[in-house]
Amino acid sequence: LLLAYDPARRLARTQVNLERSLVNARMIYEILDLEPRQGDAPGAKALSVSAGEIRFDRVNFAYAADLPVLRDLSFTAEGGRTTAIVGASGAGKSTIVALLQRFYDVTGGRIEIDGQDIAGVTKQSLRRSIAYVSQHPYLFEGTVRDNIRYGREEATDAEIEQAAKLAEADGFIRQLALGYDTPLGENGATLSGGQRQRLSIARAMVRNAPILLLDEATSALDNESEAKVQQALAAAMQGRTTVVIAHRLSTVIGADRIVVLEQGRLMEQGTHTELLADPNSLYARFYQLQDDQDIGLVDDIADAPQD
Ligand code: ADP
Ligand code: MG
Repeated sequence: LLLAYDPARRLARTQVNLERSLVNARMIYEILDLEPRQGDAPGAKALSVSAGEIRFDRVNFAYAADLPVLRDLSFTAEGGRTTAIVGASGAGKSTIVALLQRFYDVTGGRIEIDGQDIAGVTKQSLRRSIAYVSQHPYLFEGTVRDNIRYGREEATDAEIEQAAKLAEADGFIRQLALGYDTPLGENGATLSGGQRQRLSIARAMVRNAPILLLDEATSALDNESEAKVQQALAAAMQGRTTVVIAHRLSTVIGADRIVVLEQGRLMEQGTHTELLADPNSLYARFYQLQDDQDIGLVDDIADAPQD
């Protein structure tokens, strides 16, 4: 089965699927390490992660000249802790997560992981230290097992099943006609939104990386799926440095640090209690907008889950 694993070929076959699910093709290529050496600085070293502390130091970034997206942004995500990013649609939240993986390079300032400027480390070592769960639970043609193995090519079957258990996916996988060998995609099994999300979490967990980047989904899952996805995410966050683009009040409240962005600028940061202490804070206003499920900071349509 491992011999049949060929991301490039599979990718070519699934182009149509990818387009339909609005997956950013650049991200897929990068996630699959298809072009890991491109853009490495001369003499780039392997990133060495210890505590897993992430530091943005006066980061500036623009996708297009004269259209700044992040402006002098500084914050620290403590090693092993959870940092939640909140802000309105277009504030620059997803850009932070993209820059951390070096899908793009900063135009000013620096991003450090454990004191190492990520511009000076190999992309491959950087990406291997990071697991990323996007808002879009994309799946590829292939079996359930293949889909989880995309997280780490050399994962054993036992590791894949362990990751699926942690991600609350093992139960439904075993109920599929061929279990882990059930094909997905056009002519394969169809999964619910919650099941797809749990598979993508299993994929992140099998990567077993010290840093977890999470673009939280806003999709209205049924209650049971929702609870299981939340459980799966909580397991994934355990013991890792997590940066989460937070939509759920429970995630925001539970975060060790909340970073509030507006138009690419850091407006406020602190814990939920600290930020609420000022009734005039931006955060306090966001908080008042929240309903039970969502803190009201909905992303744009292009970001919306496809279910
Ligand atoms: P958020 O995740 O907070 O909604 P984003 O980081 O996605 O915000 O986007 C911040 C700004 O950058 C927005 O104005 C958005 O239109 C723009 N932007 C995002 N991605 C791209 C891109 N690939 N090319 C050009 N502009 C982009
Ligand atoms: Mg976003």
